[in-house]
Order: sequence, then structure tokens, then C-alpha cells
Amino acid sequence: MANKKADMKTIVSLCKRRGFIFPGSEIYGGLANTWDYGPYGVELKNNIKREWWRAFILKRDDVVGLDSAILLNPKTWEASGHLKSFADPLMDCKECKERVRGDQLLESKLGDGAAAGLDFASIYAKINDNDIKCPRCGKRNFTEPRAFNLMFKTFQGVIEDSTNVVYLRPETAQGIFLEFKNIVNTCRQKVPFGIGQIGKSFRNEITPGNFIFRTREFEQMEMEFFCKPGTELEWYAYWKKYCWEWLLSLGLRTENMRMRDHDQKELSHYSNATCDIEYEYPFGWGELWGVASRTSFDLTAHMNASGEDLRYFDQEANDRYIPFVVEPALGVDRTLLTFLVDSYDEDEIGGEKRVVLHLHPRIAPVKAAILPLVKKDPVMGIAEKIYRGFKDEGEFLVEMDESGSIGKRYRRHDELGTPCCFTVDFESEQDGKVTLRDRDTTKQERVDISNIEKILRDKIRGV
Ligand code: ATP
Repeated sequence: MANKKADMKTIVSLCKRRGFIFPGSEIYGGLANTWDYGPYGVELKNNIKREWWRAFILKRDDVVGLDSAILLNPKTWEASGHLKSFADPLMDCKECKERVRGDQLLESKLGDGAAAGLDFASIYAKINDNDIKCPRCGKRNFTEPRAFNLMFKTFQGVIEDSTNVVYLRPETAQGIFLEFKNIVNTCRQKVPFGIGQIGKSFRNEITPGNFIFRTREFEQMEMEFFCKPGTELEWYAYWKKYCWEWLLSLGLRTENMRMRDHDQKELSHYSNATCDIEYEYPFGWGELWGVASRTSFDLTAHMNASGEDLRYFDQEANDRYIPFVVEPALGVDRTLLTFLVDSYDEDEIGGEKRVVLHLHPRIAPVKAAILPLVKKDPVMGIAEKIYRGFKDEGEFLVEMDESGSIGKRYRRHDELGTPCCFTVDFESEQDGKVTLRDRDTTKQERVDISNIEKILRDKIRGV
């Protein structure tokens, strides 16, 4: 299926029109770069999170879940290096006051990796050497880069002084490291094993934008996989493939994806291998998923700073060591955007243009729509009975849609990505059947009412 590529404006407007995502705080004039997920957006988001949880926790013998606090002891961020170096090079254009991220400006002109491994002074020099201009006013008159820490700072308790400073976590990973020991002691997991969690993270990004691609408040799905030193590169290869395949299993098309390995100069000082799974968004290639082999950096840092022994005791080998870690880190919102962009399509049905989201049935917000042809009994009664059956179970979202022409109702559900519509008509009472209309092929067929649930379940399971 070669879908039509949508631009960001089209996606943003579809999201608003159909109740996926609204601009945040709109009645107060908005708050820049904040977004609220509407009824269909939250459903899509929950389905994505559920699928990740299934694949990374429930289906695995060797990964457990966690939900750690957003506020952690500030010593965490000192030990992890975030306080000192979780900073981006902030530059201001002296002419028009535009704020830019030096590394991004450089890479937007010279390509991915152009800023890799460079300190702030070198970024500045390279911008000047290559005569890179302000994207807004076209002049080159920047301030030198300043380190801008991305962590949101706030105060805990009633007194606003430095002893009460806490930070909103900029990643979920550190909460996992802090609980490593408790989990080893209570959950019968033996290395190699992983701990995964889903939760909000906050980064005071200098240049948020591209809709929900880069925001200051977002959700992450992260897993830290602890393994024996020396085995980490094997596990790294394993998880790279696992992540890639998870995306494919939910219908993402490989022609828009690539795996980009970081070269030596791009690697963080604690990593011995990192790659990004990238997607080609309407605004260009961007990181969707980062997979990093982080050595024993984090556990060692927390062990040194806290004084707690975070080594793992391998009973079989009678050996004590600090495990190495492989981390696949993915953003929920960015994944959602990726699925929206990838599934968007426009085609023509009977000479009429239609917009459709070919979302995988597993993540589609509405699994089925029940459409009574007329608002009268017995048609209405039959439709209500089918609908109630799903509602009473409360397992997934099924909608009853009774207003407007049937064509209009199909269009609406195509735009929501609803895989199946079941239309109840005048014959349904006699033959016990309804018309199933398939979102992707638009084919229609008569199916037994008693079979609807099975049809839907098979569709969701991909049978
Ligand atoms: P980028 O280079 O895009 O700033 P990063 O390398 O800092 O991302 P990581 O720290 O590896 O990102 O975070 C893991 C994942 O979390 C990213 O791959 C992305 O999916 C998501 N993510 C990170 N920052 C944001 C953000 N500001 N808004 C939305 N999602 C984000």
C-alpha cells in the first residue's frame, strides 16, 4: 500500500477536527506547544501503551514493570550527570532575537551527525565557518552558545529555597536504576533481565515544535535491560531487532524507516553502541526510538553517590558485578504521531475523495461502529443490542453512530481509522445478518450477527 504522504498541517487539522488532539488551554489563548488528547487521541495513546506493555513486559519472562515517582531525590540527577550536562547549546540571534539550538542549526544545514561530539565552542566556530544564517531573518549574528539545562526545576514543600529544590524527571530511566536493588531482592529475577516503565517526562526544550514530535511534557516507554558485562553487545543487537519488529507488527511501513547507528564521535561518553530508529516525517528524518548500550555507567554512578552496593550477586558463578545495561527508549507521543503520519491516506471512492487512517486494528481508537440504517425499530433495536453487548463488556471502544447518511458515517469512521463498520438494515431481522464494511478495501459483505464478535477479535489479533 503506497499511502499518500500527508503534511503536518493536514495531520494537525485532522487531529483537531476528529477529536484526537486539541491545542492546550485554548480558551485562554493557548499555551505554546502544549496539547490535549481528546477522546480518540487518548484511546489511540492507551492502545499504543498497552501494546508496548504487552510486548515488553507481559509476553516476556525476563522483564518486569515499574511505575516510579516523577520527583526523585535531587542527588539522582547529580549522580546521573543530568545536572551538569543535560544541556543544549542555546544561541540567540542578535538581529531578530530568534532562539536556536546550535547543534540543531548546524545539523539542519550540514546533515545528521554534523554536531556530534562537538563542544559548544566548536559548534559556534563551525556555524561561522560555514556561514550558517539565522533561519528567521537570514543574518549571521549569533550570541555564543550558552549551556541551557533542560530540567524543570521546582520546590518541594512550603519554603522556596535551595534545600527544597526538586526536578521533574527528564527521563523515566533513572527511576528504574534507583529501584534495581529492590526488584532484584523481591522479584526473583536473575540477570539478564529488564525493568520497563511508562510515564511522563519533562524537558524544557529550547525549540519544541512539529506538533507532538517535540514537546516539553511528554510520555516515554523505557526499558533498562541488565546483563552480564561482555554480553551487552549481543543484547543490544537483540533489542534493536525486537524494537524494529514491534513497529512492523503494528503496521509501520519499512520504506519510511531506517536504523541509524551512531558513529564513534557521536556516542555518549558512557555508551559503547547506540542507534536511532528513525522515521521520515513530513519535516524530514527524525529519531523515533533510541537504543543504547549504556555500559555500567548509571548503576556505578548511583552506587558511588549513594554508598549502596548495587552490585548483582550471580549465585551460579559465585560472582559479584555491576550489570551492564541496554536501553530502548521510546516516546509515546512521537510513536502516536508516527502511526498517524504513516497510516494517513487519501483515495477516491465512487469519484469522491476520502481520507482514511489505515491504523492497525490493535491500536485503532474505535474498533467497530454499529450503524443502524434508519432510526426506527426493528433496525434500531437490533443495533442497540449489538452495541450494548460490547459496551457491557467494556473491553474496547465500539461506537453506535446513527446520524447522517450512511456514506457520511463511513467517511467519519475512515478518518478515525475504525477498521469495521456493521450496518443494520431492514433485512437484518429476517436473515440475522448485517453488512460488514471493511475500512481498507471498502468491500461490503453480509455476515451473521452472531459472528460479529469473532470477526472483530480475529481482526484485532491479525488473523
Ligand atoms: P532528541 O535528539 O530528539 O532530542 P533524545 O536523543 O534527547 O531526542 P532520548 O533522551 O533518547 O531522546 O529519549 C528517548 C525518546 O523519547 C526519543 O527517542 C523520543 O521518542 C522521546 N522524546 C525525547 N524528547 C522528547 C520530546 N521533547 N518530546 C517528545 N518526545 C521526546
